[in-house]
Amino acid sequence: MPLAKALPECPVVALKAVRVSDYDGRSLSVSTSTQIEIDPDLPRAETLRQWFASDGNTVTPRMISVSTVSGGGADPAPRPGSTNVQVSSMSELNKMIEDKSSGASVAEYVEVKAKVAFIKRENSYYPKCPEESCNSKVVSNGENEWRCDRCDQTFPTKTNRYVLQASLQDDSATTWVTVFGDQAQMLMGTVTADEVEKLQETDLDKFDAAFQATQDKWFKFVLRLKTDEYQEQVRTKAIVVRIELTSEPEEPPEPGKQQQQQQDGGEASNTKSGGGGGGL
Ligand SMILES: [Zn+2]
Repeated sequence: MPLAKALPECPVVALKAVRVSDYDGRSLSVSTSTQIEIDPDLPRAETLRQWFASDGNTVTPRMISVSTVSGGGADPAPRPGSTNVQVSSMSELNKMIEDKSSGASVAEYVEVKAKVAFIKRENSYYPKCPEESCNSKVVSNGENEWRCDRCDQTFPTKTNRYVLQASLQDDSATTWVTVFGDQAQMLMGTVTADEVEKLQETDLDKFDAAFQATQDKWFKFVLRLKTDEYQEQVRTKAIVVRIELTSEPEEPPEPGKQQQQQQDGGEASNTKSGGGGGGL
């Protein structure tokens, strides 16, 4: 039985001869000598099953592995009326990101009103499984062959999905956030991630303009703060789960130096992202 299909029933999974590494938190790599058994008939599996049935299923799991690509679309927006949303300025948001990385408890969701200072052009989308319900990255297996490990299938096509690194700014500070799929589409307007790929290959001016168009527009963002571990370091990412277009605040922020630095190639300090800010 494919592993992904067995998972909703929460089986015990036993793995033998896997390589443990620190990639994106903690990851396991399989090889041809790896043995995987679902619901094995072992005393330790039985202990685990009993623990899960009694109270293990109510424990909030601590994420030890986070995939920015396949996991990103699954971030739920807060329920209407949720009290776990804190309205903040960008400088307060930066403080919360810092606090969360050092283990302090902060609100799960943060609402900020900010403008888009910059969107990175590099790695702004990834090849996604064509199944609508699946956000997994597919790998090219040759011409017109795209392999999705999650669906355990090879497809003749793929579709691109946005994964934007955007720097948001208000009059207090600037912060890098990650924006996936539908939320990213709201920033990019009518230009789809498939079209962005084409423009990148055919018309770099239009490609750049597609990103430029959203700059300096004001939005109300709801962000989810999420920690993961990378090479034994805890990092916190701010992932956008909801976007609404909004008007500029009464007193517009001064055009500060901060934005300039970000555009000149400032590194994303709170999110994982490759390369500098500017250029192609
Ligand atoms: Zn898939």
